[in-house]
Amino acid sequence: TNDVLDQWDRENFFHPSTHLAQHARGETPTRIISGGEGVYIEDRDGKRLLDAFAGLYCVNVGYGRQEIAEAIAAQAKELAYYHAYVGHGTEVSITLAKMVLERAPKNMSKVYFGLGGSDANETNVKLIWYYNNILGRPKKKKIISRWRGYHGSGLVTGSLTGLKLFHDKFDLPLEGILHTEAPYFFRRPDLGMSEADFVAYCVDELEKMIAREGADTIAAFIAEPVLGTGGIVPPPAGYWPAIQKVLNRHDILLIADEVVTGFGRLGSMFGSDHYGIEPDIITIAKGLTSAYAPLSGSIISKRMWSVLERGTDENGAIGHGWTYSAHPIGAAAGIANLKLVDSLGLVKNAGETGAFFNEAMKAALGDHPHVGEIRGEGMLCAIEFVEDREQRRFFGAEKKVGPSVTAALLKRGIIGRAMPQGDILGFAPPLCLTRAEAEEVVGKTAEAVREVLG
Ligand code: PLP
Repeated sequence: TNDVLDQWDRENFFHPSTHLAQHARGETPTRIISGGEGVYIEDRDGKRLLDAFAGLYCVNVGYGRQEIAEAIAAQAKELAYYHAYVGHGTEVSITLAKMVLERAPKNMSKVYFGLGGSDANETNVKLIWYYNNILGRPKKKKIISRWRGYHGSGLVTGSLTGLKLFHDKFDLPLEGILHTEAPYFFRRPDLGMSEADFVAYCVDELEKMIAREGADTIAAFIAEPVLGTGGIVPPPAGYWPAIQKVLNRHDILLIADEVVTGFGRLGSMFGSDHYGIEPDIITIAKGLTSAYAPLSGSIISKRMWSVLERGTDENGAIGHGWTYSAHPIGAAAGIANLKLVDSLGLVKNAGETGAFFNEAMKAALGDHPHVGEIRGEGMLCAIEFVEDREQRRFFGAEKKVGPSVTAALLKRGIIGRAMPQGDILGFAPPLCLTRAEAEEVVGKTAEAVREVLG
């Protein structure tokens, strides 16, 4: 029964990213999710909710897609598992690799499959170290990430993540992982700069860090094309070309972490295409399978591949592999998912309906005295609340404005996400969102904002 599940949950289950003590006291009761269809999920009490965050920005094709379920079932019946080590593979994993490369930006060469975004970024750092060792420059090892970036919560990836919550009490970041300014213009009124000057400031901060550390010690820069968990912040014009130039000049590799932006969320297949970024590695996960099964990947550029390949002639097999690399169930889900993304025209819809959604949100709430900024790109949207709009004074996390508006929205049947900064309500709906559904989210959001902030 429901009561028994509640008890088992409190007694046995360790919830990720959760206030453990509050949960144990019963202050954050668990909503048991039991079904889903399109953009809606349903809980065990039969309550239907419009999920405007697509789970954790991952269920891109929406819930309940039978094509993917059937592909998974067929694969499980035929062959649930075989590994991909030394001279082995499966039809689905090889097919999916080809499909990923066909969609990837130019100059990409191979894909290594993992399970989630965190392990994919872990793979990326190892491959970059391997690469520099093969090239005879073992000192070129440090990785620069950005404050507010999110890249996972392992030891290396939690270090890359630029959010204090992921560092404090874990003794992170690890040595050799550095953080620089993110292009989050709205949060830096203290600098008193124009947006163009702020872009130059961010680029200069990176330049100064490279000069201070020595370019010969810095291996790579990792960033999300659009800052995601750190606040849903599209880059200001000119940011990416300027950053790319600096990296090229110092022979620093670029990892584009496209775990959120990959496979259509911005209205382009990849964020790298969207902004003209030329990465050496692209991290993919979430939208690769729309989360129907765990699968991630590291797409490696031709330039890196030629060195990795040479490295194995000198050193033997590459000492990197997971039991579940290229798991056939994930691969079968990935194939069916990418076919659906194509057949439903979801990349185009993400661009078009996403733009409609962002515009409608601005029209409904852009003038509200406690709305400082509404920003987004494709099927990403964020509302940042401010205590004082003229002075751009922020509420601060302790006032829990984001969480309060999110709760008021949930009461109205819509799931948004209070981003970890406290003053931000984020949206990342499934890419199949319709205009009518977008209007419903906007209407209910306006009501929720007015309930909490007047
Ligand atoms: N990279 C980005 C940009 C992400 O948003 C996330 C997760 O939200 C990750 C990496 C980590 O992925 P995972 O949670 O699958 O390990």
